[in-house]
Amino acid sequence: MKTTMDPPITLELPLSDPGPAPGCGVCEALARQRAEHAAAGNPSRATDCSVEIRNHPHGTHKGRRA
Ligand SMILES: [Zn+2]
Repeated sequence: MKTTMDPPITLELPLSDPGPAPGCGVCEALARQRAEHAAAGNPSRATDCSVEIRNHPHGTHKGRRA
């Protein structure tokens, strides 16, 4: 099986949590998952969510509201 969506390797992982982009449902979901992982004692999983939020391109720049 080929993996076509390898996440880029981040050399430096800041411990501060990146905030989800306002209005981005994906980021909001990731932020919630991150909190759940942190609460469940899975900091590495929580970090994964932080990385996803940081790397997420978001889709909010194409404003549908003029
Ligand atoms: Zn996003």
